[in-house]
Amino acid sequence: MSMPPYSVSPVGILHSCFKEKFAIPRQPQLAPAARGILELLPPFNTGEAVAGLEQVSHVWLIFLFHQALEDKPRLKVRPPRLGGNQSIGVFASRATHRPNGIGQSVVRLDKVETGRLHLSGIDLLDGTPILDIKPYVPYADSLPEARNAIAPQAPQAIAVSWQAAARQSAVQHAQRLQQPLCELIEQCLAQDPRPAYQQPDAQRRYGVRLWDVEVHWHYPQPGHICVLAVG
Ligand code: SAM
Repeated sequence: MSMPPYSVSPVGILHSCFKEKFAIPRQPQLAPAARGILELLPPFNTGEAVAGLEQVSHVWLIFLFHQALEDKPRLKVRPPRLGGNQSIGVFASRATHRPNGIGQSVVRLDKVETGRLHLSGIDLLDGTPILDIKPYVPYADSLPEARNAIAPQAPQAIAVSWQAAARQSAVQHAQRLQQPLCELIEQCLAQDPRPAYQQPDAQRRYGVRLWDVEVHWHYPQPGHICVLAVG
């Protein structure tokens, strides 16, 4: 039996610290300093739709992977977590390329304002359309006995050090932006954003934009990142 397609429309748009996909953590909560503001769209921006939400510490965001939409659904995917060379069923993964392109993240709700939610611990790109917001319910959503042998624990964080001038520049940009930029850089780079199949030599520079700031780093030795420049 075939069903007619449904159409959905966003309740809000996320303004995120992440301006490109590279270096966004693979799940929420891995970078608590990753912040964003969810701007609610009419008719959800008057305050009525979020009444009571200030009593909740975390929310589920249901969203569209708007930068990964595809016409033809994939049945198998190669998650970066498995090194990018092992394929598993799309429903066994949290890959961005999936039927209907729908993602879900539990994020911290820092502040509720009329028409705006302040969020942190996000793993979403700037401009992500948010389809729904639901309160996190600890007794139902946290399952201590749950297991996932594909992703048994958070990826091991790698060491991050700074060149002195890069650190100084990051502190200045943090003050200008009024954001925890140094923490954000450390938390994102500790996830090792580089694709697992790339074995970088120490000369190779990597870069990403966080907020409006370009961050450059290299791998002086395996398992160690050094931040070279922030500007
Ligand atoms: N927590 C969500 C989930 O499980 O559905 C997302 C997991 S997905 C593996 C996380 C990655 O999605 C991020 O590292 C980022 O590269 C990518 N991403 C985030 N927002 C996106 C968007 N709007 N469009 C496409 N890719 C996005």
